[in-house]
Amino acid sequence: MADKFDVVIVGAGAAGLMCAAETGKRGRSVLVVDHGKKPGRKILISGGGRCNFTNYDVAANNFVCRNPHFVKSALSQYTQWDFIAMIAKHDIGYEERDHGQLFCEDSAKEIVSMLLAECDLPTVEQRYRCDVHSISKTETGFSLKLNANTVECESLVIATGGLSMPKLGATPLGYQVAEQFGLKMVPTTAGLVPFTLHKEEKEAFAELSGIAIPVAVDAEDGTHFKENLLFTHRGLSGPVILQISSYWTPGQKVTIDLLPDLDLAETFNVMREKHPNQSLKNSLSRLLPKRLIEALIERGDLSDKPLKQYNEKEITAMAAYFHQWAIAPNGTEGYRTAEVTLGGVDTDELSSKTMEAKKVPGLFFAGEVMDVSGWLGGYNFQWAWSSGYVAGQHA
Ligand SMILES: Cc1cc2nc3c(=O)[nH]c(=O)nc-3n(C[C@H](O)[C@H](O)[C@H](O)COP(=O)(O)OP(=O)(O)OC[C@H]3O[C@@H](n4cnc5c(N)ncnc54)[C@H](O)[C@@H]3O)c2cc1C
Repeated sequence: MADKFDVVIVGAGAAGLMCAAETGKRGRSVLVVDHGKKPGRKILISGGGRCNFTNYDVAANNFVCRNPHFVKSALSQYTQWDFIAMIAKHDIGYEERDHGQLFCEDSAKEIVSMLLAECDLPTVEQRYRCDVHSISKTETGFSLKLNANTVECESLVIATGGLSMPKLGATPLGYQVAEQFGLKMVPTTAGLVPFTLHKEEKEAFAELSGIAIPVAVDAEDGTHFKENLLFTHRGLSGPVILQISSYWTPGQKVTIDLLPDLDLAETFNVMREKHPNQSLKNSLSRLLPKRLIEALIERGDLSDKPLKQYNEKEITAMAAYFHQWAIAPNGTEGYRTAEVTLGGVDTDELSSKTMEAKKVPGLFFAGEVMDVSGWLGGYNFQWAWSSGYVAGQHA
């Protein structure tokens, strides 16, 4: 005999736990299954162990989705303020960092404990180390073959997340379920991920590993971010690169303004007037890390002469070089280090008001498994909370 539940949720991550708590509060009997040995593993490691759980400013344009309107309903049904209220109810201390990002003061563990406390209802059962071998449609809902038994449910919620960080249990099960039920997919790729460089640039900049500088970056589609860039021994990282990576496709360039807060031509003229005999290297080393200037000179991108020897044409070219430093990444570090997966279940297949598949009544999706990814800054968790909440009201 199969165990019967009103709702089965596959995935005990951010979206699955939120959904379980909400569904359970409605008095529905819920089973949450996860193949991992404990819940919320990505939450635990997120934000350097402090979980950037949401942001004070959340809007549809903070998300990457083929249909930019899709996220609006869920984000308004369960807002950042609703999540902050839950945090306050559980007495979890938090702090604001740059750009409205909210982090736990103490530990991401508190977020997982809070979600588990919300799920601590007689209606909610959780099973870990539990594999899903197959899913099939029945007359009244769905049947799932699990490790040792079969369970049946009226509603099925797929909250299996994306493909990033396979070490933490990421699998393509959610995509396979979508395909099994004939739902379209948006091709997946790594997002919020460092860039790798072509051999020559990699070698030239490897010695800059560890240097961080504030820059502004533009993708070819015009998307613009201004934050820190970090040189690594593999390529480029830092928040600005992670952000722009979600708007980059292989073969494209990104344009980096290495001195976004000044007009280099103007500054150069002032420096030349004051110190005509000073070398370019020493002058520019006042504006940017010396090692970076040395690497650019060594590559032959800049010539090093006393400032008085530069003519207007050379100054204009140099200013353009620093303000529009064009880099064509070789690729990204991929799912191994990516924070999110771009693409996923096509949102055209889902109701934005309920997260239910339009052509498969009773089948819901929540969280990163669908074609919604947020910017760096707490947006991915906010999407998990909002979509998990919404699915939890209808499953
Ligand atoms: C290193 C890192 C740091 C991050 N930091 C932040 C941050 O600070 N702020 C932010 O907003 N976002 C952050 N993110 C992104 C965020 O963690 C995810 O977007 C979010 O966890 C997605 O929630 P989810 O519930 O959809 O998926 P997940 O949280 O990934 O949960 C999916 C669950 O499904 C389970 N599962 C998968 N396949 C199966 C299967 N076949 N059978 C059974 N169970 C399965 C997994 O074990 C997992 O428990 C970070 C991501 C990473 C990798």
